[in-house]
Amino acid sequence: MDVIKGITPETTPALEVATNFDELGLAAPILAAVKEMGYKTPTPIQAQAIPLVLAGRDLMAQAQTGTGKTAAFVLPLLQKMVPHANASASPARHPVRALVLAPTRELAIQVHESVMDYNKHLPLRSTVVFGGVDMKVQQADLRSGVEILVATPGRLLDHASSRSVLLSQVQFLVLDEADRMLDMGFLPDLKRILDFLPTQRQTLLFSATFDDNIVGLARSFLQNPLKVEVARRNPPAENVEQLVHKVKEDDKLDALIRVVKTRGIAQVLVFTRTKVCADKVGHRLQKRGIQAAIIHGDKAQVERFAALEGFKQGKVQYLVATDIAARGLDIVELPCVVNYELPYAPEDYVHRIGRTGRAGASGLAVSLVSPDEERLLAGIERFIKRDLNASPLPEAAPPQPLRAVATVATVAPPAASSAAASPSPAGARFGRSRAEPVCALLQPPIHPAEPAIAAPQS
Ligand code: AMP
Repeated sequence: MDVIKGITPETTPALEVATNFDELGLAAPILAAVKEMGYKTPTPIQAQAIPLVLAGRDLMAQAQTGTGKTAAFVLPLLQKMVPHANASASPARHPVRALVLAPTRELAIQVHESVMDYNKHLPLRSTVVFGGVDMKVQQADLRSGVEILVATPGRLLDHASSRSVLLSQVQFLVLDEADRMLDMGFLPDLKRILDFLPTQRQTLLFSATFDDNIVGLARSFLQNPLKVEVARRNPPAENVEQLVHKVKEDDKLDALIRVVKTRGIAQVLVFTRTKVCADKVGHRLQKRGIQAAIIHGDKAQVERFAALEGFKQGKVQYLVATDIAARGLDIVELPCVVNYELPYAPEDYVHRIGRTGRAGASGLAVSLVSPDEERLLAGIERFIKRDLNASPLPEAAPPQPLRAVATVATVAPPAASSAAASPSPAGARFGRSRAEPVCALLQPPIHPAEPAIAAPQS
């Protein structure tokens, strides 16, 4: 075993890094679940964080998405709750002991799926609550008693304020993707949540990036925390090849399709800055007979879930997403991310490309950069301390026969679907309103004869 690396020297305890799960002091039911997941060795963040959490320390952990950070907090917390595991039917025997806060519904759902995977051989109960859906089912779940609660901050406050959940016995608090929670303006909600929690508790803060705001948050939430870093400050994922293609706005859709086709990419996550642009790109892809789903904050929860599931199951080739909706998504073996539009915040570039190349796999991140995005590109290069030299687009694949495209297109749902009939906030912008944020695709359509934008397929 090696001496632990990466924790700031002044707070580093004399710990050693485990090289297999058996050395971590986890109970047999947890180890069995880990084995069934197919994990052979702890990832660096797991090897470092698990012993510290078991030792009862507060933690500030800087870990990129895809590093196995979820198991890094879920496994030791389960271990710490083993003494409380019981099969009693009484809700009073199942108070909330571990609270995990996540910035988005998708991330909350994903974290909860991991909790269920790792907890499958223990009788601890868990649930997830998030906004955008009826509170009643969640209330019933909460009232029946759960030891592990995963939640988005706003919805948790709704439940806590209406007393459908009691948080006075919380022993463990996890702030997952803490930087994004701050970006999304959750600080006031987080502070209000603190009022419902005991002051004596163990708190773990996970964040892809550490800036002054995160340090400030840590000051008010954590006690004498240890700092764990598994990578240097704000690094891009190392096993992700990063390409830049300079493309005019109007040519981006063709460029996207060309990159995916010529490189034979099975699935791609496409990022846009705005919901409007995500809708436009997604619908244009669908019109070309391409299986594409759209995920952004204006979509109903059921649509977001369907889009994500369709993508995870490989039924959909392109998932077009905004940053907030895609944050933290773990899509196993996602080969490619395309930045259709560069993000305004350079940190978001790192988060985006962290969707690919997860858990050691190699990945490709392609940025389509228009002339007016040059400044954003320069900002990203400064942030990641690396030049991203532009390369030419790959040669186009031979054109597909028109008939083939038309045949596929006919299987798309008709334009007069629910979204067209009762437009969502995003759907209402499908016209040519110039008052809304625009992306290139709001300019005249590539195929002038195209019908009105159809509803999403997913
Ligand atoms: P996370 O960073 O928690 O989103 O995890 C990223 C991916 O890594 C998920 O698909 C996990 O199932 C997977 N993973 C987590 N821990 C391990 C491990 N020790 N070995 C292999 N894969 C892992």
